[in-house]
Amino acid sequence: MKCPRCHIGDFFEGHPYQFSTLGEVKQSCKNCGLKYSREPGFFQGSYYVSYALGVALLVTLFILKLIFLPSLAYLTTLLSMVIILVFLAPLLFALSKIIWINIFVNYDSRFKK
Ligand SMILES: [Zn+2]
Repeated sequence: MKCPRCHIGDFFEGHPYQFSTLGEVKQSCKNCGLKYSREPGFFQGSYYVSYALGVALLVTLFILKLIFLPSLAYLTTLLSMVIILVFLAPLLFALSKIIWINIFVNYDSRFKK
């Protein structure tokens, strides 16, 4: 959850589960000055990453269910997966934004002070 270029400056305004600043990204890095929002609507692309993370989580949960709890009822499985997804949604939202910007910004050791 740090700046993709220097790995030092904070990326988010607050913790992913701090609901007053949910997923809010800082304007720029305090350490290296990287402007996080590269263009208007830049983080809309992170929705694709968020979707992929959600699907990966649900598939993983379903495979774990098949292995460890094969007799669990379909409705119970579905409700459990939805509850887990809802509780992890803020984390997935934050992860999707940091993954998205890391696609476009590479680490640069020159900015590590
Ligand atoms: Zn930085």
